Amino acid sequence: MDTLLTQLEKIEVGDPNNIIRLKNNINNKSNANCSSSINPNLLNDLVKRAQTFFSLSLFRKCLQCSETVLDIIPSDIGVGLDLENVRLRGVDIKGKALLGLGEYEECLIFLGRESKILKNLGLKLPPPMSPVYTRHLQHWKYLMERGKVLQRQKIRGEIDMGAFIPNKKVRLEVDSVVEYESEAVEIGAVIPGKGRGVVARQDIAKGTIILTTRAFEIIFDTDDEDDDLENAIAQRMRLDSKLIPTVYQLHAGKEMGCLFASYITNSENHHKSKNNDNNDGTTMKIDLKRIEKICTMNSFGNSKNSSGYGHNSRGLWVRASFFNHDCIAFNAMWKVLGDFLFVRTTKDVKKGEEVLISYTDSAEPYEEREKFFQAHDFSCACRLCQYQEKEDVKMRGRRLEIVKKLVEIDEKDRKTISADDLEKDIAFGEKCLSELESMIGSRPEWNFSTHVALDLLTKLYLQKGDVAKYKETAVKYYIVVNCSGMTKAEIDKCELEDVADRGPCLEVGAAGQVCAVFMKSGDYVGAQKWIKILRQDLALMYGKGSDILKKLYPQLYAQAVKNGLSLD
Ligand SMILES: [Zn+2]
Repeated sequence: MDTLLTQLEKIEVGDPNNIIRLKNNINNKSNANCSSSINPNLLNDLVKRAQTFFSLSLFRKCLQCSETVLDIIPSDIGVGLDLENVRLRGVDIKGKALLGLGEYEECLIFLGRESKILKNLGLKLPPPMSPVYTRHLQHWKYLMERGKVLQRQKIRGEIDMGAFIPNKKVRLEVDSVVEYESEAVEIGAVIPGKGRGVVARQDIAKGTIILTTRAFEIIFDTDDEDDDLENAIAQRMRLDSKLIPTVYQLHAGKEMGCLFASYITNSENHHKSKNNDNNDGTTMKIDLKRIEKICTMNSFGNSKNSSGYGHNSRGLWVRASFFNHDCIAFNAMWKVLGDFLFVRTTKDVKKGEEVLISYTDSAEPYEEREKFFQAHDFSCACRLCQYQEKEDVKMRGRRLEIVKKLVEIDEKDRKTISADDLEKDIAFGEKCLSELESMIGSRPEWNFSTHVALDLLTKLYLQKGDVAKYKETAVKYYIVVNCSGMTKAEIDKCELEDVADRGPCLEVGAAGQVCAVFMKSGDYVGAQKWIKILRQDLALMYGKGSDILKKLYPQLYAQAVKNGLSLD
């Protein structure tokens, strides 16, 4: 990014006097004359500047630059001139900037008009059509086709998250993914006693995408919070002052509070003030302390999963920052793919209800969750936290101690373990499980870390080759991690399909592990059942998009096909 920024600073053609002079030159002279009196390098630099803004995802600034170029150079400047080439490149970049801004309809109108003009110019010349013209026309046609698809997705909210698997460490292309905000929710709604949040304007069905949004800024390959996210955000605000209020509308903790709470933001790029406040924030100073605090409160962190899938990254998504948290009663899930964050409902949400997500892994012990909340300058008062806060401190401490020991065993290099040691580990895991179960108390619907023991035991039984035990434990594990909020009676009598159907599930991939073993043991009836559950779970997270099972579980998928299992 540094080299791009250095480049950007070198290009100094943005001086308004320069632009007015250039424009007058063109208007006062015939085309032939003006082409000899204008230095095309200056305008060429302006196009380069637009391209640089584009590569920094500063689409609004990019649009501004490209529009200046198109404003100065008329479309009939003269065939084959350098200035005409500069203009055509200006059209390219303006089209892409509009896609980046999510202005799909405007993009279609603009490129449609430019295509018509260029075709007419081409037809005035003796055939064949100039290859330069043909190349630009083809490119614009492609952009318009993509614009149409994205516009349709924006209207219908039909977004195929599966298209972005595998989840790579890249910024997704502007023509590949839609900036979308469902009209079924009000983002930034005032919630009495809670500040701002997200509220359903109408009934929303489970599995509905309500937000897809590009990161304001994202840092890939980060393992801790000492990365440069804050500086990168400040840099963007410096380059485009319109972004200052966009960031400053976010909460910066109890002491600093929040500026521009009254902003009604339709998207990150357009904001209007409710009151006619003259101070629109664009001249405010860039305060790194405030930005740091905003990141502490609002950034989303991602980590690779245990099998190395995904990416370690941390980013700020302004619109997603308005969702409030609940450890147990969340009814939506968020997922980062590339630099986009997707939010979809995991339960039916009634009109007027708040849409809640979980910021952290709700299956973590109370102490771990508390640590996370404190680090983010926030506290949770959900049912689970309230209950656990009142639990016997000694018992909570003992539970945490057991979890730590189980994790230690889990992290051992298991390839070198002798059969005797394996037996010892299994015996220890079983003892831990029964002790954890004895501490569940009066609220059996919450798993209170029993899943950690179950998870370890499934792995150990698998290593031992005890398929019967493995299956039993794996199924139990699946139920425990997916049943939060159900009563013991409900859990006992429900069928597996009901568990999968309930949501929110705490671990989407759990069914995949179970399925793999049923397959391995040759139990295809069982495997068939678990394939169905896995696909239901994946649909909850990713929607019913293209080939998700095949992409995320290629081996399982191949085995299912080979053994004639149904994938419908
Ligand atoms: Zn909580």
